[in-house]
Amino acid sequence: MNEQLEQKTKDILKQVFGFNGFRGTQEPIIKNLLEGNDTFVIMPTGAGKSLCYQLPAMVLPGTAIVISPLIALMKNQVDQLQALGINARFLNSTLSKTEARIVKKETIEQKVKLLYVAPESLTKEETVEFLLKANISFIAVDEAHCISEWGHDFRPEYRRIKSIVQQLGEHPIIALTATATPKVQIDIQKNLNMEAASLYMSSFNRTNLYYEVRAKQDIKKQLIRFVKEQKGKSGIVYCLSRKKVEEIAEFLRVNDINAAPYHAGLESATRVGNQDGFLNENIDVIVATIAFGMGIDKPDVRFVVHYDVPKSLEGYYQETGRAGRDGIDSRCLMFFSHNDISKLDKFNKDKPIQERDNARLLLQEITSFAESAVCRRVQLLHYFGEEFSKDDCDNCDNCKHPTEPYEGKDCVELVLKTVMATEKRFGMLHLVDVIKGTPTEYVLSYKHDKLDLYGKGNTETEDFWRSVIRQTMLAGLLGKDIENIGVIKITKKGTDFLKEPRSLTLFKNHDFDNLKKEDEEIDSTPIEATAYDEKLYAMLKALRKNVAKHENLPPYVIFQEVSVEEMATIYPCTIEELTTITGVGKGKATKFGADFVRLIAQYVEDNDIITAADVTIKTTANKSKHKVFIIQQIDKKLELEEVAESLKMSMDGLLDEIEHIVSSGTKLNLDYYMDQVLDDEKQEEILDFFLNDESGDVEAALEEEYLEDYSEDEIRLMRIKFLSMYAN
Ligand code: ADP
Ligand code: MG
Ligand code: ZN
Repeated sequence: MNEQLEQKTKDILKQVFGFNGFRGTQEPIIKNLLEGNDTFVIMPTGAGKSLCYQLPAMVLPGTAIVISPLIALMKNQVDQLQALGINARFLNSTLSKTEARIVKKETIEQKVKLLYVAPESLTKEETVEFLLKANISFIAVDEAHCISEWGHDFRPEYRRIKSIVQQLGEHPIIALTATATPKVQIDIQKNLNMEAASLYMSSFNRTNLYYEVRAKQDIKKQLIRFVKEQKGKSGIVYCLSRKKVEEIAEFLRVNDINAAPYHAGLESATRVGNQDGFLNENIDVIVATIAFGMGIDKPDVRFVVHYDVPKSLEGYYQETGRAGRDGIDSRCLMFFSHNDISKLDKFNKDKPIQERDNARLLLQEITSFAESAVCRRVQLLHYFGEEFSKDDCDNCDNCKHPTEPYEGKDCVELVLKTVMATEKRFGMLHLVDVIKGTPTEYVLSYKHDKLDLYGKGNTETEDFWRSVIRQTMLAGLLGKDIENIGVIKITKKGTDFLKEPRSLTLFKNHDFDNLKKEDEEIDSTPIEATAYDEKLYAMLKALRKNVAKHENLPPYVIFQEVSVEEMATIYPCTIEELTTITGVGKGKATKFGADFVRLIAQYVEDNDIITAADVTIKTTANKSKHKVFIIQQIDKKLELEEVAESLKMSMDGLLDEIEHIVSSGTKLNLDYYMDQVLDDEKQEEILDFFLNDESGDVEAALEEEYLEDYSEDEIRLMRIKFLSMYAN
């Protein structure tokens, strides 16, 4: 890609979208598409797929065609783009003839940068005729898994995309989805004729989601307490049946929570009304069957509760994935009971055998997930075939409150030997029977009761052994046999272990049926204290709601949650300053900013606030995740050790972040801290070095003999001070 194009891309990212940098793999994806190549993107919900086609659409001449399955979502996206000052339109059955004609005319005149088309409109002959007259830059197929019967959301019309795209001539295609098991992935590529496309697959880790499972006991009390902890925040409570949805919505309402139900059995006007109320922040909590959430794209859902157990781990991942799309910390809470599992199992009783067995396996997965004391992230990501170390989590109940660990070396060895001795042809239940020494029909017929290790584990319960087997799988020593569903086989790592058994820490499962009373109280880990000015934040939210109402748009289209939080942290008082806020580009700042900066300026004056905005000058580098928090804490003159601790960082890590902040142009006043650490004279001495040394390196300073009494931290701190004083 040439330099000019690259610069243009970066400029649009900042000026139109208001982002300071790309996220994850967005940059290479966009580059690949701009170079005219077919591109296949698999990225979890909330990771930022839309930008991968919206930005190139702005860079390239002509119109990008976006195929997207949900009409509600389409309007939503187009509203968001228009709020950014982008000429985006949609073409679907909700438009009148005249409206459609205008959209087509503007597209042919090349005024439209992005045209969203519903698959059923696309397949109409008149649409194809019209598209042949347009100057198409590329074609984006969003939610591309809808093309596959193996996915969870198959749409027959998606099957016809291929032939239509072919009629439109040679255009690069970008396909995007948040779920693609290998089967679905192949299906998508085949059905879009893009086998040669470059594949960009990101991790499924949603770092900002806190996962938690609790026993379904005293559930109503627990639910109320949980929802009240998040006062005024948006959340979804999922229930299995329509009846339960109605009941719980009513229950929340009588407890002063602003809740409403949503399910397919409601009258359409009520349903739409409740959904809009949720989008517009007139309703805080939606109680719904799992159908809810597919059609909406609300970025600031702060919690998702599974009142009833979900049907599969993939479903759980999708549903919890609707929380925190904006990247801000959000909570996912599941209530688990064996009773729910039996209920779900009963639903399956009329299905054909194969289907029923599969459904049962899915329920086993979710049961193990719930009962396991292993990091939730490790388990979820393992399910999607990703390896992940629990050391990188610290954001789930099992990491925050670990159960007692035990040495698992001997147990794991016994499990692996049993898999070998039974010739790697059996599933979990059979293996447990052999280890426990249970003489079932199968065990006897295979003569497994004659094995040396038969009954070797009879002092422990069946649950215990199931948990060991699961953890052995999570450790990668055992794997699933892809061809034979349910069969467990040993991996290379497993055979290596058998040759040389080593220490392995395992955790006892949660026992949800026999909870001790006191356990109930512990688990209400509040997410880190807020870093922003809560009073101003509330005022800004109220203003946003007003503006939104006036513009007839959902509030987050005006400014996203992240942006509002950041405003309440660094107090931008001019339109210029406002554009430094994440998610606020020139277009948005000019369109909606005036009232906001006026309010902030007034607030700053009324409250005599010396703001970080005095401090923030330019922001070019990536805003790191903790940046705003750190700036504010330093503003409040907090001890750095404390800041580091509340971020669970080392001092070293914190200094890295601070250096980053300062070198991207933000002034930080650390004098209050430095003065405790070093007296004036000493500070001068180090400062002198940086004033005179060309390299300005910490390493160079450390090598100076006359500075040898100073620690690395002290030198780094002085360098930060130096940069703040002179470089900014
Ligand atoms: P997906 O389609 O993958 O679920 P979206 O495209 O809806 O995700 O994006 C999720 C959120 O991430 C949106 O609120 C969007 O504004 C934000 N976002 C996307 N790219 C960036 C970026 N480079 N920097 C900051 N925020 C971003
Ligand atoms: Mg999307
Ligand atoms: Zn964890």
